[in-house]
Amino acid sequence: MELGRNTKQKQLILEVIKKEKNHPTISDLYEEVLKIDPSIGQATVYRNVNKLLDEGKIKRIITDSGIRYDCDCNNHYHLECSKCGRIMDIYDDKYMKLTRRMEEEYSVKIDDCTVLFKGICDKCLKYEK
Ligand SMILES: [Zn+2]
Ligand SMILES: [Zn+2]
Repeated sequence: MELGRNTKQKQLILEVIKKEKNHPTISDLYEEVLKIDPSIGQATVYRNVNKLLDEGKIKRIITDSGIRYDCDCNNHYHLECSKCGRIMDIYDDKYMKLTRRMEEEYSVKIDDCTVLFKGICDKCLKYEK
């Protein structure tokens, strides 16, 4: 029984991360989880987030506004907007070529890469005009 509940809680937290488009922080997550299941405590949210990280189901991104979580584990970049604080996803297939080249050049194997650009997002730029 206990195992069933744990699995359900983990599933729920993963669902919330997927639903939250803007790379939620742990407190964003907790707030959303509470709306669905008020019986889940903060420690449970932390524990399950760490489990999901260990299992490779989510990724951690470190931004100026704190640690955020991303359910998209494909390699991609982020842009942190200095106006609205949005963390925008940026996909660029040159990334793969770049890592291949670096692997050859330095005789290493690259598993992951964290790039955080800082600037102004497309929406804020549009408003400025
Ligand atoms: Zn913005
Ligand atoms: Zn992302």
